Amino acid sequence: MADCLFCRIISGEIPSKKVYEDAYTYAFEDIEPKAPTHVLIIPKEHIVGLKEADPDDAELVGRCHLVAAEIARTRGIENGYRTVLNVGPGAGQSVFHLHVHLLGGRSLSWPPG
Ligand code: AMP
Ligand code: ZN
Repeated sequence: MADCLFCRIISGEIPSKKVYEDAYTYAFEDIEPKAPTHVLIIPKEHIVGLKEADPDDAELVGRCHLVAAEIARTRGIENGYRTVLNVGPGAGQSVFHLHVHLLGGRSLSWPPG
């Protein structure tokens, strides 16, 4: 998707601070971190968001979450972290390529805003 910010990050056209990459997923530092760890994990395949995902995307969506768990393990933030998908503009989704936020390294209140 030539006009998708995160597809352009995956291709390297737009620079990012890579945290992890495999054949299916790419993870990088959020440009405006909201916690000491704020990493975005995205599928390499363009999926608009969770509500647009279909059953064929189940493995990719799961892989993104497992990558988040592995990054949290590596960073030693397993006492408490959060994985978040903002779904739709009303929840703050601003980039329409599915992404899991991994937030941690500080205490996280509940419920979220
Ligand atoms: P959302 O608001 O859930 O769609 O999340 C989009 C996230 O992408 C926000 O947390 C932004 O700070 C982040 N973001 C936007 N542009 C970039 C970029 N070029 N590199 C890294 N993160 C970005
Ligand atoms: Zn994309």
